[in-house]
Amino acid sequence: MWRVLRSEAQTLMESAASAGAPLPRYVQDELHASLRCGVLACGFARARCPDCGRDKLVAFSCKKRGVCPSCGGRRMSETAAELVTRVVPEVPVRQWVLSLPWALRLPVARDSALLTKVARIFFEAIREHLRAKVGGHGPGERVEVGAVTFVQRFGGALNLNPHLHVLVADGAFVCPEDGRAPRFVSTVAPMRAEMVEVLRGVATRVARITTVRADDGLDALRAAAMARGTVARLPLGDDAGGEELRFEARQRGVEHAGFNLHAGVCVAADDRVALERLCRYVARPAVCGGRVEQLEDGRVAYRLKHPRQGGETHRVMTGQEFMARLVALIPPPRSPLVRYHGVFAPHSPWRAVVVPGPRRPHHRDDAQRVGCGHDGIVVADGDHVEGNLPVRPPSAGVAAVQQIALTTWDWATLLKRVWGFDALTCTGCGGRMRFIAVIKDRAVIERILKHLGEDAEEPKFARARDPCDLWA
Ligand SMILES: [Zn+2]
Ligand SMILES: [Zn+2]
Repeated sequence: MWRVLRSEAQTLMESAASAGAPLPRYVQDELHASLRCGVLACGFARARCPDCGRDKLVAFSCKKRGVCPSCGGRRMSETAAELVTRVVPEVPVRQWVLSLPWALRLPVARDSALLTKVARIFFEAIREHLRAKVGGHGPGERVEVGAVTFVQRFGGALNLNPHLHVLVADGAFVCPEDGRAPRFVSTVAPMRAEMVEVLRGVATRVARITTVRADDGLDALRAAAMARGTVARLPLGDDAGGEELRFEARQRGVEHAGFNLHAGVCVAADDRVALERLCRYVARPAVCGGRVEQLEDGRVAYRLKHPRQGGETHRVMTGQEFMARLVALIPPPRSPLVRYHGVFAPHSPWRAVVVPGPRRPHHRDDAQRVGCGHDGIVVADGDHVEGNLPVRPPSAGVAAVQQIALTTWDWATLLKRVWGFDALTCTGCGGRMRFIAVIKDRAVIERILKHLGEDAEEPKFARARDPCDLWA
């Protein structure tokens, strides 16, 4: 994937510019940042074992939301861990999935305010359904629900398909207005007729929204990302999609006015492992790096999430079509991918008594945040970044180290949770390593990497070739 990005990005950017539709700043930034993500030559944090003095270097991550599979995977794990330990109480949780009519997909992809409205309408329709189902309440009580919406901009074939997954406490919280702890009343699964009712409500209210947001220059790429394209059967990789299939309801959903609704997956209150798996599924990144392969003729193959009926296993693209699809999947700035509703919302008066843990402080823009390598696991292939280093950490690193200590789910804890090993365990003596410095200075980076025999050259995009024809 990185090879494709490296060789194709510049051509796409220059073709866009010469077609009079230069890629927006946030897209260019994202492409540049992903190229540098996890590359030691672009800077790193340095950890040291206090017992034996062994060092380990951890490259910075780009923390972007669209293209980078490594950061997407990390965000997925972080979000799932956060939800299970700090947001969702021990109640049954149902997944509601809303797909949008074809005609709405492009406007929604272009305009995140419109998508926010649709998400709001969907949540309100589910809330109405649950309130009606749970029924009456006493005086001085209110019936509230709790939900978390996940925006997915993509389908399983590197296609642009914005849709919503909502994890909903399967029932309602009866909340005393005096602030005492609510009691949870669970419900049974929605019947088909009830789902149709929900969907009708959504369709009617969405139809009333009118927004006119002009083309921001990316519509040609979005059209390419929605196009049918070419699929083929290729003998590459395996197509085990078990984890994902588990959360895609077997029974058919209901349809109305081009909308489609599923609500067939529910996790029991005491099955926190399944809940975390479901959270990871709904929070997963758009692009899975492991599914991208470059063919001998230079084209790019992307393994489909599910083989098609004709047995096709891969989408096959030119490098430029691949880039167009990637770019269309990048969420515009200020478009949250996760939203909390009802008693899970930050401003809810009952949030503190409903959710299991305190809110974590946010350090999302913390420039010093430590990240992981291309595949999310530096340590697995990263022994080469360990060793005893003769270079003393610069004293300027001290402030940065304090910032690292502030990060919330620290990197090693997260990896341990996800993959079951402790990345900061010293491979020399078994002690616990600590971050001691952040290295950004070009000269210091080169000195350290040369000492370790590592590549110190920063990655660059290959020069543009002939312009592509996406704007023709
Ligand atoms: Zn990244
Ligand atoms: Zn040690």
